[in-house]
Amino acid sequence: MRESEILRRVESMTQEMVEFLRELTRIPTVNPPGENYVQCAQAIGRRLSDFDYDVQYLEAEGRPEHTPAHPRVNVIGRLRGGGARPLLHFNGHFDVVPAGGGWSFDPFGAEVRDGKVFGRGTADQKAGITASIFAVEALRREGVALAGAIEQSGTVDEESGGFAGVAWLAERGYIARDRTDYVIITEPLNVDRVCLGHRGVYWFKVATLGRIAHGSMPFLGVNAIDKMGAFLAAIEHELRPSLAQRITAMPVEPPGARHPSINVNSISGGQPENGMQTPCVADHCEAVFDRRYLMEEPIANVRGEIERILEHMAGTDREFRYRLEDLMTVPPVLTDAGSTLVTTMSQAVNDVLGAAPPLIASPGTYDQKHVMRMGLVDQCIAYGPGLLHLAHQPDEYCRIDHLVSAAQAMALAAMRLVG
Ligand SMILES: [Zn+2]
Repeated sequence: MRESEILRRVESMTQEMVEFLRELTRIPTVNPPGENYVQCAQAIGRRLSDFDYDVQYLEAEGRPEHTPAHPRVNVIGRLRGGGARPLLHFNGHFDVVPAGGGWSFDPFGAEVRDGKVFGRGTADQKAGITASIFAVEALRREGVALAGAIEQSGTVDEESGGFAGVAWLAERGYIARDRTDYVIITEPLNVDRVCLGHRGVYWFKVATLGRIAHGSMPFLGVNAIDKMGAFLAAIEHELRPSLAQRITAMPVEPPGARHPSINVNSISGGQPENGMQTPCVADHCEAVFDRRYLMEEPIANVRGEIERILEHMAGTDREFRYRLEDLMTVPPVLTDAGSTLVTTMSQAVNDVLGAAPPLIASPGTYDQKHVMRMGLVDQCIAYGPGLLHLAHQPDEYCRIDHLVSAAQAMALAAMRLVG
């Protein structure tokens, strides 16, 4: 039977897959600042050409981060032959976060040990790119005729918001409802789970404004850091208990992330710590906050409850002066669990691993927001090899058996969706 031949075909390509993953891992596409993108886009593009794709390199013209020193280059391939619809698009980002400390391997050495490939970006998410390319290649080598179309893209900057990557492609119509039916983003959400979407993000900055005075007579001034302290206390004692009461129907993993959350990312105030200190009351303090919100929370309410706390404080303390600034808003997204893409991918995972995959949502955001909110494609999921908890960690790795299983599941899903 044809499907078991496809699974065997994928398995027979294990060595090729490992070598390609190692080739990609050895290109340190570190973001920030966005190094070696051209080289990595070309490595993916060359492989797609070899596997009979028409390949385009797309520079993110118009984006300020697309510079001569760090060009933002995305690559898209379209498999030759087949029809126009349905169109299945596999997307993976090839930028990686900096290696950081604590490694027992060369982070860009792509060492293979104990059935694992080690290196920064193996799990997140060059293994995902590898799996989808070889999944489709297995269909081609088996001579499967496709009624629809398959595209693969390797994109930049997911780790910094994806604006020159998937957002740029969606904005320019490369990933869009009028041509694209299904999008599978190959993020490392674990080989045995299918991810339907992610929570929302509201980043904001609060500045508190004081009045400078001599440090020996602080009662003559207004200390902006004290005012920020009061705001932090209000977050702790008023907002957090209220957030803890709320719970989403989204299947977010881990379950602790089914509540909304707020994190203080940074705080600074008064004089720079390393500068010469003078005896002054701090007249300025600012802090950046990361509020993660649920499908059930309208953004107007999320922002409104911060404003209300600040306004209340200004109303009860006439020396409390502040500025609130929005830094970034990412809406939550969730693909329908009953959609063709979700049921087909789940069945494929079940057929490969022998167990139905849990349908989950991600606590953090990834490029799905751009596909759904800008491209207006309503069937988009994340599925890939690689363990979520290893992303951004030292000694990141991808298990080779997971790489193979994920490619097998993608191959079955691709055949059933467009075959
Ligand atoms: Zn990622």
